[in-house]
Amino acid sequence: MSFLESLFSGAVSFVRNTLQEGKEFIQEAVHSIVKAFASEKAAKFASKTTGQLIDMFATAKDLVQEEKELYTKAAHDNKQTEADKERLYEIAQERAELKKQMDKASAENSAHDIVEAAEELISTVLTANEAAANIALLATKPCPECNTPMRLTHHSQDTLTKQQKLKWQCTKLNSTCKPIFFKPEAEVVVLRKPTYDLDGNAIVIAGYMHQPAMLKSTHSRLRESLGREDQAITCPTHLIPMRMLEIPSADGSILGSYHYMCTAVADDGRACRYKVPVASMQQVSATLRRSEGRGILD
Ligand SMILES: [Zn+2]
Ligand SMILES: [Zn+2]
Repeated sequence: MSFLESLFSGAVSFVRNTLQEGKEFIQEAVHSIVKAFASEKAAKFASKTTGQLIDMFATAKDLVQEEKELYTKAAHDNKQTEADKERLYEIAQERAELKKQMDKASAENSAHDIVEAAEELISTVLTANEAAANIALLATKPCPECNTPMRLTHHSQDTLTKQQKLKWQCTKLNSTCKPIFFKPEAEVVVLRKPTYDLDGNAIVIAGYMHQPAMLKSTHSRLRESLGREDQAITCPTHLIPMRMLEIPSADGSILGSYHYMCTAVADDGRACRYKVPVASMQQVSATLRRSEGRGILD
């Protein structure tokens, strides 16, 4: 029996493998995902709750806007009224509640994605590249300390291999929970749709991706996404979709010139500091698949 490790938006799932493989294993895994996340009856589950999530994003944006106004007012008046303090506290409460609803809706959407793609899914070993494609996406892995969903984030880059080191980070608001460092695991497999960007020898794939003409066209395709909201990547604090922007003073290369930014303000009145760098070709590939429906080599 398969056992769910994490589920991501875009029909991707990490599943504990008990030495089974093939179509039957995939079907069984999909079945267990439906059981875990379909809170309603099958008929209702069939209709994706995208609308619900869009309403929640609208609420999150309203809270961000109201908070921004209160901070601006406080900075202007050089003090904060009791009523404003009280309202900021309420906003934090409303946001915590909203986060719970959002986590649930996005898990249901992800389960829906995987059911819809069930016929196409393949299973493959969970490598660092596979994980990098799902950086910063809403996931369903529960934090062992507080049970809030975690997400994969960058930790650092290995100076020798240039490989990104990843970690699972708790998304609870103001979380102090310990991250879990990601190790590619032999006993965990990935279920996803096939893509030339991941299927096959990683070195050969990297070679194709880095051919100058390919790199140039990929780069210009990526730039089409500049400034656009990406609903798959949200700020864990402010719950709004982030936008990919150019890093000021970047060197213009495809990796190292862009990051996802949150447009909210932090409690010190400055811009939110949560950023997601675009640091691997697999992340670029995933961004392109979300915006255009095809990756780099597809
Ligand atoms: Zn936690
Ligand atoms: Zn933010």
